[in-house]
Amino acid sequence: MKKWEENVRRVIPYTPGEQPKGKKLIKLNTNENPYPPSPGVAEVLQRFSADNLRLYPDPEAGELVHALAEHYGLSDDQVFAGVGSDDVLALSFLTFFNAQEEILFPDITYSFYDVWASLYRIPYRTPALDDRFLIRPEDYLQKNGGIIFPNPNAPTGAVLPLADIRRILDANRDVVVIVDEAYIDFGGTSALPLIDEYDNLLVVQTFSKSRALAGLRIGYAFGNPTLIKYLQDVKYSFNSYTMNSITIQAGAAAVRDHAYYEETCRKIKETREWTKKELSRLGFSFPDSSANFIFASHREVPAQQLFTALRDAGILVRYFNRPRIDDHLRITIGTPEEMRAMIRFLEDYLSASR
Ligand SMILES: *Cc1c(COP(=O)(O)O)cnc(C)c1O
Repeated sequence: MKKWEENVRRVIPYTPGEQPKGKKLIKLNTNENPYPPSPGVAEVLQRFSADNLRLYPDPEAGELVHALAEHYGLSDDQVFAGVGSDDVLALSFLTFFNAQEEILFPDITYSFYDVWASLYRIPYRTPALDDRFLIRPEDYLQKNGGIIFPNPNAPTGAVLPLADIRRILDANRDVVVIVDEAYIDFGGTSALPLIDEYDNLLVVQTFSKSRALAGLRIGYAFGNPTLIKYLQDVKYSFNSYTMNSITIQAGAAAVRDHAYYEETCRKIKETREWTKKELSRLGFSFPDSSANFIFASHREVPAQQLFTALRDAGILVRYFNRPRIDDHLRITIGTPEEMRAMIRFLEDYLSASR
């Protein structure tokens, strides 16, 4: 190692799901939405004039923040917007997790949390999910420096009832508690109504899943104005113009088109329930999913073998080669046609390997 390398901040980065180029695949590996974004988004992109790009964007992303506040019945100072929820979450780790005490998140969860904790040198502890892959609220009643978990959890899809979230909040009035609701539009109850009651609760959501805009990069957080202000102070100390002008306008249009997204979410949930029945029939088991994916394990055939067979058949799902979950596949809910093709393949493959 060179001398200068001793002073490098070295990290093991997050590994995003594969985005294969040029191949025609049934892509069920990164929890994207199979339906296009709303017509309002397409319209903004069409009428956007390149000349607008001479100017810096609004550093507050005011149009987008206001559209979100209006839609969710909040005031603008309770809303923060960022470049995907990954940006919002990374800034939240930097802003709110500064105690000597360890922060807490589940052992099986979004695999970016330990990356941010390591990047910012935040000590952490990871209480184990129970053997049904559910969060045990009692693990979060011990002393800590902050708490974060997704609800529904990823990659399990399991939901934590609001009563349990309340129990965690009641025991943790002195640290910031972040609920990452990337999948809340597909099931479960949002903790959003609790932000008035708990000034230390931050609720984070994204446009990437339910609003079919993973490519645009928009995430947002709801919280008490003081919490939001702290987040803004860190953002403005880092990069004032995180969100570009096109994104701000297109994002606001997406929020206003909420009826369209309610309908596509309804279709995805319907397809999910059909897929659950079919997977059970084929010998898979899974935690009951409230998200747009299913975390399934087959009773006979190893997940890695199924992953490879599916891939060879042009169907891409996600496989995590990690302790406790290396016998599971995370399958994103696509269109009904895509799910039928996947089930048909699995049915043939499993009966041939008997
Ligand atoms: C997808 C996802 C995110 C990040 O989404 P963005 O595209 O950055 O908005 C955050 N948390 C969880 C649990 C996710 O699954």
